[in-house]
Amino acid sequence: MARPAVAEINLKNIQANFKLASSFAPAGKTLAVVKANAYGHGAARVAQHLAQDAEVFAVACIEEALALRKAGLQQPILLLEGFFEAAELEVIAQEGFWTAVHRQEQLDQLARSVLAKPLCVWLKIDTGMHRLGFSPEQAIKAYNDLLNMPHVKQVVVMSHLANADDSLAPGASVPSQVAQLPEFFLNPGIELSIANSAAILSQPTALRHWQRPGIMLYGSCPLAIANQHSNRLRPAMTLKSQVIATRWVEPGESVGYGGRFVAERRTRVGTVAMGYADGYPRQAAEGTPVLVDGQRTQLIGRVSMDMLTLDLTNLPDADVGSEVEFWGEKLSANEVAAHCDTIAYHLFTGVTDRVPRTYIE
Ligand SMILES: *Cc1c(COP(=O)(O)O)cnc(C)c1O
Repeated sequence: MARPAVAEINLKNIQANFKLASSFAPAGKTLAVVKANAYGHGAARVAQHLAQDAEVFAVACIEEALALRKAGLQQPILLLEGFFEAAELEVIAQEGFWTAVHRQEQLDQLARSVLAKPLCVWLKIDTGMHRLGFSPEQAIKAYNDLLNMPHVKQVVVMSHLANADDSLAPGASVPSQVAQLPEFFLNPGIELSIANSAAILSQPTALRHWQRPGIMLYGSCPLAIANQHSNRLRPAMTLKSQVIATRWVEPGESVGYGGRFVAERRTRVGTVAMGYADGYPRQAAEGTPVLVDGQRTQLIGRVSMDMLTLDLTNLPDADVGSEVEFWGEKLSANEVAAHCDTIAYHLFTGVTDRVPRTYIE
């Protein structure tokens, strides 16, 4: 028998989430962000399943894009961080990839290169995230320089939002970031892309020609406060395993490494085949929720590399072989993440290769 740890991926839910994302800007276009192995869901399978609906995909780097070509995907694939060295440009042109350009050196390298096929370039503008992109002052010149390059056939202007998920966060608000864009780019003849998932779900002013949903495709709400739109998202990944041993511990006895959990009452402990080497976070606090045969209980003790321990005291029917769900359709990854001092993005992308992915079409 195989180790029972598995991540079950519901591709129908991803497709429904993509359709939901596309419905917000019916006149615009929606690309599917499948970077980081489709947020841990398996980029090849996810992209193949979305190939009927999504016209364009987006990844972080050329390695991820080439893996999708190898899997048979024929659509354009946008490199969200552009190229890291000029040598990539030839491959980008040959493979029909689209590239971001976020700094002057990239623009210069592009200007100097001789390419077999013309490119679509996404010009990144820094409107307040302060991570990548041309300043608003430099952006118009960069845009015109790109338009004048014979091997550039299309330019899309992109900016990324720092706080679309939380309107009360300190730092640049969505309206102030949008206002940073030079008027020049508001000309309807210029293709503009601002919205990530959180903006698609909550910031209508950020909806432009191109939307770039990532996390919402995987069914997780990125908003600090869910709304009626995010409530329609369907979780795509269910991380599960099974109880592999049970025992009783007496008051005063501890469980696991470091004895973090000390029983206050007679406690029935369930040991589960899931650990931090599978991507279940070691940071998970005492009391992190878990489902056993669909019923809620909680983590006790520290997560170890290959195992973790649960409180089964109130679940007398649970035993070896009982199914354990760590997050998924019945237990939100956001709720679990809150107990682990992290976010659902991190939980999903953290699921390691040791955990087989199984797919529901
Ligand atoms: C990852 C990424 C996205 C998708 O963000 P989500 O919050 O997952 O929707 C969009 N745009 C850029 C530039 C990104 O890097």
